Amino acid sequence: MERDCKIVQDLLPNYLEKTTSKETNQYIEEHIKQCPKCSKICNAMKEELNISCSLDTEKEVNYMKKFNGKMKRLELWKKIAMVMISILIILLGMVLYRYSIITKIYKLHSKISEITNVYYQAEYEDKVIEFWRKDSIIKQVNKLKNKEDTMTFWRDISTEEGYLISNTSKIYAETPKEVPSQNLPWGFAGDWDTFEKRIKIAINPTITITIKQYDNKDCYYLRLNGSDFFNNTEEIYEKDTGLLLFESGHTQYSSWGEDINCKVKYEYKINVVLDKDVERPNLSEYELRDN
Ligand SMILES: [Zn+2]
Repeated sequence: MERDCKIVQDLLPNYLEKTTSKETNQYIEEHIKQCPKCSKICNAMKEELNISCSLDTEKEVNYMKKFNGKMKRLELWKKIAMVMISILIILLGMVLYRYSIITKIYKLHSKISEITNVYYQAEYEDKVIEFWRKDSIIKQVNKLKNKEDTMTFWRDISTEEGYLISNTSKIYAETPKEVPSQNLPWGFAGDWDTFEKRIKIAINPTITITIKQYDNKDCYYLRLNGSDFFNNTEEIYEKDTGLLLFESGHTQYSSWGEDINCKVKYEYKINVVLDKDVERPNLSEYELRDN
């Protein structure tokens, strides 16, 4: 018996750690049943092991809980930071993209505005404007669609000589302010001459800029939303030339004096204007009106 006790006591630590075989377990358990001494030792060892073990486990569990909590929070912050950085990068990318389009339109249009042989037609809802420029001479003819009235503006930029002629009432005025001096219709792009103005448009969330087809041409499509003054203003610029092909929603002061909510379609011809298209008007049948 003494010998069995020794063996069992030697095996007890392993038994309690459950690393012993089925047969050994059986042998130990049978012995403990009959031997109060070994049973006592086993219980004592069990208790000691349990307490110490559970203490360790509790500490460990607490530590792991804390650690996991920290890790989870850290992961969360990492995720939030990543999302915010991603949003920032996307926003920055969008602003840069929009800025590059705005700059491109401005530069293309500036370049094409330097051309001194150009014709364009602007079709409004109620009138058609035709414009010719050859070198220093500008001619513009405004025709109202539902009336026979026609207005002709003629100006020589180099000499400042200019006339406004009403064809129906047979009168004319000298160098009136209505005589156009600019080359091509600009739309809003005409105001985009500085970095500040361009970046202001680029970061404006109420302006959408997309690439769309218009008249079978790739175009930049600008839309201003949410502003009372420019409500639903649209502008379409040709991608390759920067030419304004369409605009709507601007409130414009027409040459007839009324405010019109315009919707204008533009068509251009470059280098086709002849001298006879911009001939100095024959005013012999017209009466001079005082300005
Ligand atoms: Zn024993």
